[in-house]
Amino acid sequence: MPKKFIEGLQHFERRHFPDRAATFRRLVIEGQKPSALFIGCSDSRVVPELLTGAAPGDLFMLRNVGNMVPPYHDGIGDDSCAAAIEYAVDVLRVRDIIVCGHTHCGGVAALLQPRNEIPLHVARWIEHARAAQRDEDLNDEQSMRELEKRNVLLQLDHLATYPVVQKALAEQRVALHGWLFDIAHGRVDIFDVETGEFLPAGGE
Ligand SMILES: [Zn+2]
Repeated sequence: MPKKFIEGLQHFERRHFPDRAATFRRLVIEGQKPSALFIGCSDSRVVPELLTGAAPGDLFMLRNVGNMVPPYHDGIGDDSCAAAIEYAVDVLRVRDIIVCGHTHCGGVAALLQPRNEIPLHVARWIEHARAAQRDEDLNDEQSMRELEKRNVLLQLDHLATYPVVQKALAEQRVALHGWLFDIAHGRVDIFDVETGEFLPAGGE
């Protein structure tokens, strides 16, 4: 275990937690009431709390390679994504669901790699993003940014196949959002339904 992590734990216990003990205790007594479900990539460079300023209790999190949402099915399979979505929407009653992609995403880039060069389960998993790929996609910056954006929109479409999400949308108690975090430039672009573009969250 890296020494910095142990030191981090000690810092949390001795310094960070005591300053916020009341908040944590309230979250235990009242339970969590996160306002949003954040679906993000497992990528270590994506730090949702840092990007959003979220505090403990604010974000319910679902993370996996390429911030993907397998289309809804009620058969046997990996239930982890469906369980997180159902719990967030039906039990916790989150008001917003954010699918947050990011630049330089290895999961999305793997779509353009030969299948035999990718670990087995990664190769299988990224098929959930295959429909975002276009024949003309190249392994260059511009193409990758567009593919990463299309992947976010595709996963939002998949999200809308879940009955709990459809019900919540019909009752107008949840809103879906597509974000793209640009790692190099430190900014998040948000999909704008009216223009069909990803626009800077901070305005320009
Ligand atoms: Zn990624």
